[in-house]
Amino acid sequence: MKHWKKLSAGEQDRRITEALEANIDFEKNLCLGIPASRLDSKVFYEGASFLKDAPLLRSYVQNPNHIGCHTMGDSEPFFAGTQALEREVISILSEDLLKASLDSCDGYVAGGGTEANIQAAWMYRNLFMHEHDARHDQIALISSADTHYSVAKAANLLHLRWLRVPVNEDSREIQAEALRELVQQAQQEGIRYFIVFANMATTMFGSVDNPELICQVFAEFDVPFRMHVDGAFGGFIYPVSCPENKLDFRNPCVSSVTLDAHKMLQAPYGTGVFLVRKGLMQHVYTEEAQYVNGMDITLSGSRSGANAIAVWMILMTYGPFGYLEKINKLLYRTSWCCEQLDTLGIRYYRHPRMNIITLNARQLNTELAKKFGLVPDTHHGDANWYKIVVMDHVELDQLEAFIQAIRIQTVPAKIKL
Ligand SMILES: *Cc1c(COP(=O)(O)O)cnc(C)c1O
Repeated sequence: MKHWKKLSAGEQDRRITEALEANIDFEKNLCLGIPASRLDSKVFYEGASFLKDAPLLRSYVQNPNHIGCHTMGDSEPFFAGTQALEREVISILSEDLLKASLDSCDGYVAGGGTEANIQAAWMYRNLFMHEHDARHDQIALISSADTHYSVAKAANLLHLRWLRVPVNEDSREIQAEALRELVQQAQQEGIRYFIVFANMATTMFGSVDNPELICQVFAEFDVPFRMHVDGAFGGFIYPVSCPENKLDFRNPCVSSVTLDAHKMLQAPYGTGVFLVRKGLMQHVYTEEAQYVNGMDITLSGSRSGANAIAVWMILMTYGPFGYLEKINKLLYRTSWCCEQLDTLGIRYYRHPRMNIITLNARQLNTELAKKFGLVPDTHHGDANWYKIVVMDHVELDQLEAFIQAIRIQTVPAKIKL
């Protein structure tokens, strides 16, 4: 680990206090021009005694704006102190978690996984347009059928086609033959450039795409492509549970990654993370953003610096080993539940390094699924699948109660597997 280490609460407080002091102080400094200030002091009283021991709340009250991307070029000098903490988050995640080499990545804390995915698609679309004079109708997004719907939003916004590769019903894996057929057909229809989204765990199944298979197929066709990894769900689990994975920055095919700290890391909402190899972000440079100091190169404009600090605090509180233990606890509970399902003869999908169990809806009484708060694959019509996501609050006691309920449930005989 180059950057990631455990820090005591006191040490974190000291670092955050220093960072906040290095930002502009609207009381003491002359600052007539920027449309920013601390939070309204009538409502959020800065002198409240509980703020003394709460560096994150103090950050919210001071309200730093982290507009732009702080790993490249200039940035707004008013918030330089806390921007440095965001840079540290980006280094930890790209280099320690995802094994990029030193200073080889840019990144920023985005509104969420959706924004980070759209940022990626936008960047590669422009790259193909800048470098190959490509037209919109020659560029396609391509990903497995289990991919998150944010890719549909990206395709819609960016005027790109979205090609969905069928997956095997049981293994949830992309089928090489199906991928070849789809690429071939798309080429016949005029597609020349591909933006590939590979899943580092899908939302519904926790299944993980095999990037080697995808790279191999594109190499066979010898067509230009760029690969983005969607780790919005799995990005804070899979690299930890499977250190030898093929979806991090050690793989030269991977150009960028989405993470979502507000899912598995239990950070406040507004903490997606976009990570990208250096040399690519400039494809989304907005020249018109003249009044912003530095390059406005992100999909969101103004964004809260407190969000980056929240992620920094979680990472520093656990440290790499504390976090490994936390993830292993979740995986242990998941495996325990799977063993119980096995003894009951209930079928399910589970990636062995992930914390999602997806049950075939035919084996479950709908009332039971509702009672235990399982999430269906669709809210329109009959569900095909129900998932359990073993988060921090999903404990063995609750899983045991669920297993007991399955044991005595009544499923109509004709649809019993
Ligand atoms: C949740 C999720 C997203 C979208 O993330 P938001 O933070 O809700 O915008 C994208 N991809 C995957 C795989 C996800 O699980």
